[in-house]
Amino acid sequence: MAKRGERTRACPCGTGRPYADCCAPVHSGTATAATAEALMRSRFSAFALGDAAYLRHSWHSTTRPERLELDPGTRWLRLEILQTGQGGLFDSAGTVRFRARYREDGRTGVLAEHSRFAREDGRWVYLDALPE
Ligand SMILES: [Zn+2]
Repeated sequence: MAKRGERTRACPCGTGRPYADCCAPVHSGTATAATAEALMRSRFSAFALGDAAYLRHSWHSTTRPERLELDPGTRWLRLEILQTGQGGLFDSAGTVRFRARYREDGRTGVLAEHSRFAREDGRWVYLDALPE
């Protein structure tokens, strides 16, 4: 659930669009992510906004964690999509390589991952991370 004021703010995922026109409809379930990259972006936004329910919802049922608790001390700052493979409108699988910057205990860190996505019941979900 988005907090007040976050709907008109620039979306955390970095498209430059307002949150309300970007990841908000995907988070609320009124739209689905059209591509694996869009799903990746919506998941980053969910991390940034602390939406654990959406993160579980957008996880593949076979790899979804039983419970997901987000660390309130971690602030997700910026997402950089480095490379995408398939994951398009007519694909059933795809990969996204990204870097995500965060701040924790006054220090900035970078999470780099090459993620796999798949369609489950027609919609894109996060599957797992490929070994680097
Ligand atoms: Zn977004």
